[in-house]
Amino acid sequence: MEVTQQQAPQNTGWIEVVAGCMFSGKTEELIRRLRRAQIARQKVLIFKPRIDNRYSSNQIVSHNTQSLESIVIDKAEDILLHAKDAQVIGIDEVQFFDMSIVGICNKLADEGKRVIVAGLDQDYRGVPFEPVPQLLSVAEYITKTLAICVVCGNPADRTQRKIANADRVVVGAADSYEARCRKCHYIPD
Ligand code: ZN
Repeated sequence: MEVTQQQAPQNTGWIEVVAGCMFSGKTEELIRRLRRAQIARQKVLIFKPRIDNRYSSNQIVSHNTQSLESIVIDKAEDILLHAKDAQVIGIDEVQFFDMSIVGICNKLADEGKRVIVAGLDQDYRGVPFEPVPQLLSVAEYITKTLAICVVCGNPADRTQRKIANADRVVVGAADSYEARCRKCHYIPD
């Protein structure tokens, strides 16, 4: 669910998580929420991990090419160096940070900020992709985005890797991955 302007908690921060597989619209949803906060004249900062160099180095860009200026950081702690005056903090590709991101998101929310994170909730094998499960646990608001299975057309929540590679992280886009449902997903070997 999404928190609307009318229902937004007063005098406190909170955490929103947008989680799902690749091609499910996570980044579009993050951008949409952040843009609305900007229109409301809130001070918005957007972070993303350096690992993700596709398309653009200092913007968050979704597969359908919406973009926002973002701050590229090497480790989760770097958010705290920038975040002081921000009212709304967006974090994209949050699965690429280590577990310290959970405490940092909690700290920011405890300080009264709205924290919106987007990321993969499962790896290419369908295994929960920490720290996203932990973030889901501490968030007030959770949205699971579903893609469309390219094989059967069902709602899809798994990321199918189309190349053989046992590394958990292989950064790529449409050429290496596709969205599939539970029934059509398999683990490549
Ligand atoms: Zn399917």
